Amino acid sequence: MSIIPQTHKSQVNSQDICPTTVNTKIGAFNLDDISILHADLIDYNSMHLACQADRLIVLKDESEIEPAVAELNQLDVPIFVLSGGSNVILPKTINAGVLHPNYKGIEILFEDKDSVIIEVMGGENWHELVVFTVNQGWYGLENLALIPGLVGASPVQNIGAYGVQLEDCMTHLKAFHLPTQTWHKFDKTECQFRYRDSKFKQEAGQWLITRVGFKLHKDDSQVNANYGDVATLALSKAKANNRSEASPVDVMQAIIEIRQSKLPDPKLLPNCGSFFKNPTINNDKFTKLKSQYPNIVGYPVTNDETKVAAGWLIENAGLKGKGIAPILTHAKQALVLVNHTDSYNSTPASQQDILATQQLIQKTIQDKFGIDLEREPVWVNNKTNYNN
Ligand SMILES: Cc1cc2nc3c(=O)[nH]c(=O)nc-3n(C[C@H](O)[C@H](O)[C@H](O)COP(=O)(O)OP(=O)(O)OC[C@H]3O[C@@H](n4cnc5c(N)ncnc54)[C@H](O)[C@@H]3O)c2cc1C
Repeated sequence: MSIIPQTHKSQVNSQDICPTTVNTKIGAFNLDDISILHADLIDYNSMHLACQADRLIVLKDESEIEPAVAELNQLDVPIFVLSGGSNVILPKTINAGVLHPNYKGIEILFEDKDSVIIEVMGGENWHELVVFTVNQGWYGLENLALIPGLVGASPVQNIGAYGVQLEDCMTHLKAFHLPTQTWHKFDKTECQFRYRDSKFKQEAGQWLITRVGFKLHKDDSQVNANYGDVATLALSKAKANNRSEASPVDVMQAIIEIRQSKLPDPKLLPNCGSFFKNPTINNDKFTKLKSQYPNIVGYPVTNDETKVAAGWLIENAGLKGKGIAPILTHAKQALVLVNHTDSYNSTPASQQDILATQQLIQKTIQDKFGIDLEREPVWVNNKTNYNN
């Protein structure tokens, strides 16, 4: 991860942040030079599902986007954007050109004694960005440590963890609209962020986000450590270093440790993180459930509604570690579906295997608690139509 040398600006101008045109010479461009035909995507998705794409296009530079998309449109080939593959359920075949962003770099757009505004290329690894910024003394992303995937995908579902969401630090993004082949800049307010949702998730398949901007602060006494066991662990790290208050570094390290102890590493046990969103129900329904199940876990989200922990529902329906082989819920975290293909020594698991376990869980939770669970990862069809 490196900073692109640039003159620091005393004031940010939206034209500077996101130039709306990228100079490309279509004549000098050859799509085949950056394409892999009949590409095997099993190692490009963290669920390790068998998937073959007609064409995989690895984009090493933002300037390759316009000519690549123009040529795919001319050939009438559908387009699918695949970054780290940690939030997708892929089909066995994708009859499309799969764009895989691999362009990297970080620019400082503005810096003063209190804060910094950076713009990060979409092909950067998310967790490496978090560690890099915290090591620079730029804070705000530390609670989002160890989330897999690439920076360009992070706004799609407004990634969130431990009381922080992407939108808390994001300032703007730059994206290419695939159907019209035009560049656009969006301020945060235009991204329609909600819980695990955004304009780009709603308009799936239409956008390629190429750069994301963040405003980070430099005050190491300002931390967000109210969530669960983060406060205790972060404070114990501070005390071990003779400090009375937890710093952002302590919070990041605590979160990394907690996540490593609770979540399966996709490289060892293929998974795509939380498989279901935490459902929101009205308070009357929650009160009734609470009288039946006093330990049910829920947090108020508005005066009328409560968000219920989907993991608690699945675990208390007796489905922890269960499912339909080879797709089972994780033995330590029932909200995560794990692909056990290797231990069953069978052919690679497919989208249909995921669906079988998903439906078993949804039906069981509906029958027991009267709650509908909604899938979090993106379901991809073979022509890259989405079904959310
Ligand atoms: C172990 C584990 C833990 C996780 N923990 C969390 C967590 O705590 N919080 C959380 O929010 N998520 C979590 N996730 C989910 C996932 O890591 C995030 O959603 C991540 O942002 C996905 O990034 P990706 O690069 O892998 O995207 P992909 O899986 O490649 O893509 C996801 C979707 O975004 C689209 N997309 C990808 N890149 C772009 C782009 N540049 N422009 C436009 N569209 C694009 C794709 O077409 C697809 O629809 C976890 C996943 C795993 C495996």
